[in-house]
Amino acid sequence: MSTSAFADRDVRFGSGAIELAGVIAGELDARRVLLVRGKRSFTASGAHRLLPGLEQVAKVEQWSDFAPNTDAADLEVGLRLVERFDPDLILAVGGGSAMDMAKLLCAYRGTVDGEAVRERIRAGATVAQRSTRLVLAPTTSGSGAEATHFAVVYIGDQKFSIAGPEMLPDTVVLDPALTVSGSPYQRATSGIDAVAQAVESLWAKAATAQSRSFARAALRLLLPAIESFTTGPDLRSARAMSLGAHLAGRAIDLSKTTAAHAMSYGITKRHGLSHGHAVGVTLGSFMEVHADPGPGRLQAGLAPETHGAAMREILTAFGAADGAEARVRFVDLMRNLGLETSLDKAGADTREARESLAAGVNVERLGNNPVRFTTGELAQLLLDID
Ligand SMILES: [Zn+2]
Repeated sequence: MSTSAFADRDVRFGSGAIELAGVIAGELDARRVLLVRGKRSFTASGAHRLLPGLEQVAKVEQWSDFAPNTDAADLEVGLRLVERFDPDLILAVGGGSAMDMAKLLCAYRGTVDGEAVRERIRAGATVAQRSTRLVLAPTTSGSGAEATHFAVVYIGDQKFSIAGPEMLPDTVVLDPALTVSGSPYQRATSGIDAVAQAVESLWAKAATAQSRSFARAALRLLLPAIESFTTGPDLRSARAMSLGAHLAGRAIDLSKTTAAHAMSYGITKRHGLSHGHAVGVTLGSFMEVHADPGPGRLQAGLAPETHGAAMREILTAFGAADGAEARVRFVDLMRNLGLETSLDKAGADTREARESLAAGVNVERLGNNPVRFTTGELAQLLLDID
């Protein structure tokens, strides 16, 4: 076990760390633990090994009956369960959805009426207090949700991001042994999500020296490991991916994501690609445009030298001399991971479908993307993909 790399956060990193759940619950004085977990992944990943130790110190209630892409209706069910069971600790063991759900349960505890829950989501107030202890243990590498102070929740088709300092957990359990049991597709798409987070964080307008240092470290871990982790994971590649995905999460916790992420939500909703896959389909094209955006397209206040340095760093990480080559390298990486890169094959096979995806992005809210895009420019970027 090592904790030194995480300085200001309590992260228990190492193979088998999940078996410390009971110890951690004890440290946090928990007596009643709501375990928010994936349906099948919990046992398949080996995470169920946490139960004997946890049940020695606390009464445990398990909840897994919620859909991926956290939504308000499921949240309402969970909030009623929290009201009834009255946990002092919520432990999430799963992917991004399970962790986001646990964060939201802590944030909105005490609100049980459906309309009141939706009102709070729409109001989007900063989450500045919580009375429940929160421990997050990812079983994928990764969404980075264990490292960020925000969570996504949908009301119908509408996406909301809820944020605040109290969305951060008390403790993270980062156990690479939990991440190897998913399908190759799951490992590939989660891994690409982490790579995209690191790349987007490096070029984000809101990047800081600290976020760049996290993003840089993330890419150095993720890129050499992602192919072997996808095709034949071992503990060595799992450790690199687990740590890399966590650091990518730390990076976007500071810098936030950019256009590739903004574009991905519509691709997921309309064409069913899983989150990381949907991000990856456009990331190579954004790399190419960002490497050489042309005059006057950088966001106001972003120095060309700052952007140039970030782009050189990204190109170097992919072993590319220019933006076009970076796109090719990234598309090749997707294909090596078994991920289809064609938007046609995803079902966005008409000009209208591409234009409608572009129109679904609110370009006013792309201020964190280093390069400005109009809706028409976004549509053109999509039309240039196969
Ligand atoms: Zn993501």
